[in-house]
Amino acid sequence: MVSSYFKSLLLDLGINKERIEILEGKGGIVEDEFEGIRYLRFKDSVANLRRGTVLFDFHNIILGFPHIKRVVQLENGVKRVFKRKPFYVEEKVDGYNVRVAQIEGRVFAFTRGGFICPFTTERIEDFVNMEFFKDYPNLVLCGEMAGPESPYLVEGPPYVKEDIKFFLFDIQEKRTGKSLPVKERVKIAEEYGIPSVEIFGIYDISKINDLRELIENLREQRREGIVMKSFDMKRIIKYVTPYANINDIRIGARVFFELPHGYFMQRIKRLGFYLSEKKIRDAEFEKYATALGKALLEPFVESIWDVSGGEEIAEVFTVRVKHIETAYKMVSHFERLGLKIHIEEIEEMPNDYWRISFKRVYPEATREILELWNGHAF
Ligand code: ATP
Repeated sequence: MVSSYFKSLLLDLGINKERIEILEGKGGIVEDEFEGIRYLRFKDSVANLRRGTVLFDFHNIILGFPHIKRVVQLENGVKRVFKRKPFYVEEKVDGYNVRVAQIEGRVFAFTRGGFICPFTTERIEDFVNMEFFKDYPNLVLCGEMAGPESPYLVEGPPYVKEDIKFFLFDIQEKRTGKSLPVKERVKIAEEYGIPSVEIFGIYDISKINDLRELIENLREQRREGIVMKSFDMKRIIKYVTPYANINDIRIGARVFFELPHGYFMQRIKRLGFYLSEKKIRDAEFEKYATALGKALLEPFVESIWDVSGGEEIAEVFTVRVKHIETAYKMVSHFERLGLKIHIEEIEEMPNDYWRISFKRVYPEATREILELWNGHAF
C-alpha cells in the first residue's frame, strides 16, 4: 500500500489520481523503508520520472539512471549519433550501477531498480569523499561498483585485484535527473578526489581507426568496452568488446536455464557484427567460433554433470563489510529481489572488516536439468 503522504506528493508532482491508482494496482510504485526512512520506488516510469526513480519528498527525488543505447557497428554508429562532432570516450567499467545521494543528512546508495543497497550504503564512504555532499546536497553521484568481491556480479574488471571499488561516470541533479557536462563532472571529481572511470580522450569520426585500436587494446586487456558521450551529455552510446560478449556468455552458461534465451542471442548478435565489421576470416575467425562454442557449452555441460552427480547449481561470492548486521540486511535485500542467497561463512579480518561468504542457489535451473537428465520427455 502506498501511503497518503506519497500519494499527495505524486499529485503535487502533476500525476493525476487515476494514474496513481493504476500504478499502485499493478505494482509500478512500491513504498519501502530503510532504517526508519520511507521512500517510494518506481518499477515503471511515470511522466518524466524514469524507471528506478526513488522519491523521498518534494526535493529529494533521485531519478532512475537512464538506458544507454548500444551500437554494434562502431563506425556507422558513431557517424549516425555524433555526425562530425567530437565526443568523450570513457571506459565502460564492468560492475553494478549505483546512484549515491544525501537525504536528510545521510548518504545512501541506490541500485538500478531503486532499492537502497545496505552493502553499498555502508561501504560508499570508503571510496567517496563525503565533503562533496556537504557542498552539493542537490547532486547525485552515479557510478559503477566493480571488483571481485561484489554482491551482484561474479567477476570484476582485471585491474581491481581485491575487494571492490567505486568509479564515477556521471553527476546528476536531484529532481530533474539532468547530467552535468563532462568537463564539470571531471573538475568536481578532481577537486574532491572522487575515483572515476578512465577517460581515454576526445575522438570524432575522423579518428575511427584510433577508436578501433582502443577497442582492440581493451579486448586484449579483458576489459568490457567504452561509453561515448557528447560534451553536454545529451548523446550517449556504448560499445562492448568481443571479449566481454564471450565472457558474459561463459558466465551465463553456467546458469543456462536461469537466463532468458535473449541473453545469449544478444551477445552472439554483437559478436557477429564485430566479426563482420572487422572482416575477420580464416584462422582468426576459427578462433572466435571456437571461443564462442566453448563459452556456451563448457560451463553448461559442467553444470549438467554436477546436477547428474547429485549437486545443486550454486555460486559462492564474498564481500567485506564493517558490521555483521550489514550482511544480514543483505540477505533480506536479496530475498526482496527474489533471490535464494544465504550466508555461508563469516570471518573476522585483521582490519576491522568482516569477510562474508554468501551462497546463491539456483533451484529452478537445478530442477530443470535434473528432470531432463532423468529422461523427461517434453
Ligand atoms: P541499459 O539500461 O543501458 O540497457 P544495462 O543494464 O543493460 O543498461 P549495460 O548494457 O551494462 O547495462 O550498460 C549500461 C551500464 O553501464 C550503465 O547503467 C552503467 O552502470 C554502466 N557503466 C559503466 N561504465 C560507464 C560509463 N563510463 N558511463 C556510463 N555508464 C557506465
